[in-house]
This record gives sequence, structure tokens and C-alpha cells, in this order.
Amino acid sequence: MINKLCIIGIGLIGGSLARALKEAEFVKHVVAVGRDVAHLERAVELGVADSFETSISLAAADADVIVVAVPVGAMKPVFAELSAVINADAVVTDVGSVKGNVVRDAREALADKLACFVPGHPIAGTEKSGVEASFAELYQGQRVILTPLEETNTTATQTITQMWHAAGAEVQSLSVEHHDEVLAATSHLPHAIAYTLVDTLAQMHEHREIFQFAAGGFKDFTRIASSDPQMWHDICLNNRDALLEMLNRFSKDINQLTAAIENEDSDFILKLFKRAKTARDQNC
Ligand code: NAP
Repeated sequence: MINKLCIIGIGLIGGSLARALKEAEFVKHVVAVGRDVAHLERAVELGVADSFETSISLAAADADVIVVAVPVGAMKPVFAELSAVINADAVVTDVGSVKGNVVRDAREALADKLACFVPGHPIAGTEKSGVEASFAELYQGQRVILTPLEETNTTATQTITQMWHAAGAEVQSLSVEHHDEVLAATSHLPHAIAYTLVDTLAQMHEHREIFQFAAGGFKDFTRIASSDPQMWHDICLNNRDALLEMLNRFSKDINQLTAAIENEDSDFILKLFKRAKTARDQNC
């Protein structure tokens, strides 16, 4: 059981974690930290947090577990503030969708406190943002990837593993590099493609009519383009190398499909679509 849980960034991901842990009676007190008092007040009104602070130092000083749930590009200054105030037994984790750059930032900012840091990433979410969008069931049966570092204290990793289990999630460990490669392929590339597809259509002269005729398939495919632009901007730039590799690979494949359509290469097109259907039916 966690006595005092400090969540920095009480939006969809941080808020859903707070709700799940409260429902599981795994936490006594949740203190939320953020920049906007109206958002923090709403978190308390909704019962997601018990109290709030706008100062990281005040909120985190006596917390047992601190969860950093702000966009990945905003984590470094948060780690720097934490480094100055956390007590020796506190455990710090994050929920960032990218691990390489977050770990680099944590190494620099947390410095001699790095042993308490357990990098993490829940593989769960929606296209919605903010505490209003949070819900307790978000992590039920979903995976959370932890990427503990050589320096990470084993007890700290156990604490964070137990916390995610209490929220209903399964926990798996990966190396930082492997996490970023896998997520570039399965999450970051699809988001980049969905945003670009919607933008391509929106730039077309007749876009109003095009969107009017958009059916279920288009809506399914592009749902994730409704996600928070700042968050995905941060993710793309913070997982640059792995994402570029996937984008180049995808560009090559889409160019091959373009050529096949130009050349009416029915065999190539049918084989590609059959391969893709089999892969999706077997794996998703
Ligand atoms: P969100 O709903 O927008 O919540 C982000 C929170 O961070 C808000 O409470 C916001 O509160 C605060 N915040 C925003 N910008 C900040 C800044 N520059 N400095 C300090 N605080 C800031 O976003 P989310 O979906 O929960 O995502 C949070 C983290 O989870 C991100 O690192 C993301 O990569 C990761 N993640 C997201 C998903 C997903 O599907 N959404 C899935 C897995 C992991 P104020 O505006 O009040 O400060």
C-alpha cells in the first residue's frame, strides 16, 4: 500500500492511475501537481486526487511514490526539481511513451538519486486528454513496460511493479533501446501516418465533401489523429532515430505499392494485401 502518491501531470494517464489505485484501495492519499489550478481543482472535485499543489517541492517532499505523467518533452525540469527534494526511500517512475530520451534526462537531472528511478510506460491510452478523460479501468488487463536501469534499486522496481498490478496491469521488462524500437513500429509510426493522412485530405480543395463521405474504416484508421498534438510532437522528436527508421521503411513499402498500382501489377498487390490480412488476423 502506498501512503502518499504524488502524481505530476494529472491528465488521462496520471488520472487513470490514481483512480485505479484508489478503487483498489492501494493508496491512502493522492496529491496532484500541475500548472493549471483549474485542472487541479477539477481533479479533486472528481475524486481523482485528495489534494493538489502547484509546487513540485511541496507535493513530493514526503511522498512515497512519485509518478511523472507530463509530456516527455517536459520531464527534465520535473526530474531536476525532484532531485532536490525527494527523501531517501522515495520511488520515482514515469509513464512516458519514449524511454531513451527520458532516461537520458533522468540521468542528468536526478544524478545521484538515479537508483530510485524506475522508467515505465503503460501500453494503454485513448485519443482523449486531461483528467476528465481519465477512468479507473484503463489499465485492466493491459501491459506496462518497465525499463529498469543498471543503477535502479530492485526494491524500487518491485514497488512500481506492485503498483501497476494493483491498477490491473501486467508488467513486463524490456531494455530502453528495445522499447523504443518496438514502440516506434507499433505506436509512433501509426500516429505519424494517421496525422499525415488526415492532413493530406484536409489540405485538398474539396475536403469538406471528402470528410462528409468518410465511413467507418476512415474513422477507425484516423481515430488516433485526434490525440494531443503537443504530446505526439514530443514523442516524434524524442524517438527520432527509431521513428525515422520506421518511416523510411514504410515509405519504401508505400512506394512499391504505388509502383504496383501504376503498373497494374495485380499479383504484387494481391500478395501484399493477403500477407497483411493474415498477419493482422493472426496477431491482433
Ligand atoms: P494529458 O492528459 O494531456 O495529461 C498531461 C498532464 O501533464 C496534464 O495534467 C497537464 O496538466 C500536465 N502538463 C502538460 N504539459 C506540461 C508541461 N509542459 N509541464 C508540466 N506539466 C505539464 O496527457 P496524457 O495522455 O496523460 O500523457 C501523459 C504522459 O503519458 C505523456 O508522457 C505520454 O507520452 C504518456 N502516455 C500517453 C498515452 C496516451 O495514449 N495518451 C499512453 C501511454 C503513455 P496542466 O496542463 O494542468 O499542467
